[in-house]
Amino acid sequence: MTAAQDDRTDAGLAERLAAARERIAAAARAAGRDPAQVRLLLASKRMPVDVVREAVLAGGDLLGENTVQELVAKAPELAPLGAELHLIGHLQSNKVNATLRWAHCVQSVDTLALAERLSRRCVATDRDLDVMVQVNVSGEPSKSGADPEDAAELAAAVAALPRLRLVGFMTIGANTDDEAVVRAGFTRLRDLRDAVVGSGAPGTTTATELSMGMSGDLELAVAEGATIVRLGTAVFGARPAPAPDGPIRGSSGAVARTRVD
Ligand SMILES: *Cc1c(COP(=O)(O)O)cnc(C)c1O
Repeated sequence: MTAAQDDRTDAGLAERLAAARERIAAAARAAGRDPAQVRLLLASKRMPVDVVREAVLAGGDLLGENTVQELVAKAPELAPLGAELHLIGHLQSNKVNATLRWAHCVQSVDTLALAERLSRRCVATDRDLDVMVQVNVSGEPSKSGADPEDAAELAAAVAALPRLRLVGFMTIGANTDDEAVVRAGFTRLRDLRDAVVGSGAPGTTTATELSMGMSGDLELAVAEGATIVRLGTAVFGARPAPAPDGPIRGSSGAVARTRVD
C-alpha cells in the first residue's frame, strides 16, 4: 500500500476490495478454476456515490445498481471513470430509456415483453445492449426472475431480438443456510446456460456468463461455475463509520444484508 492510500479515509475500502478478490481467487482455485475466469461486480446499492467512486478508483471496474433511480443518479460520476455499469435489479418498462442512457448490460431481463421493449428502443437509437436472463432458481416468491421451466425458451426468444446480445444468465441464490439447496440452484443455472449455449438457436452462443454468488454464498457459486459474482456487504458493509462531514450512509449493515430489493 502506498503512502497516498494510507492517508485516505477510505483505505479500508481498498483493503476489503483486495480481500474480496482474494476470496474469489481462493474459491476459484479450490474449484480447479482459473481465478481470471471470475469477475467481481460491486453491488453498490444504497452506497453514496463518493464511496462507490473510491471503490472504482481502487480498481472496481464493474458496478451493479439495483434501481434505475440510483443508476441515473450515480452514473454521471462513475461512467467517466471507466466503470462498466450493469442494472441488476427489477426494471420497470417505463424506465427503459433512462436505463439505456447508462447501462452497458441489463442482467435482470425476466420477461419477453421487457426484452422487446429494450430491443425496440435499441433499434430506434441505433445501439446494442448486452442482456442476461434472470432466473428465479429458488422459486422464492419474493424474488424476481423467470421460472426455470420457462427460462430456456425465454432466452432463445431474447437472443433472437434485434440489437440485444444475450450474454448469459443471472440469479440470486436461495435465502437459506442449507448449502445443498443454494448450490443446487446454482447448478440449475449452469445446466440451463449449457443447454441454451449448446442449443444452436440463433444468438445463443454468446450466452456464456453466469452472474451468481453474493457475499454470503460466493464460494458455492464459484464452485458451480460463476463468471461474475456480485458483492455488496463483503466490500462496502463492514467499513468504519464515515468522517462527520462525510456522506450519510444510513443503516448500511441492515440495508446491505437485505438479499432482494
Ligand atoms: C444486494 C445485492 C447483491 C449483493 O449482496 P451482498 O449480500 O451485500 O453481497 C447482489 N446482487 C443483487 C441483485 C443484490 O440486490
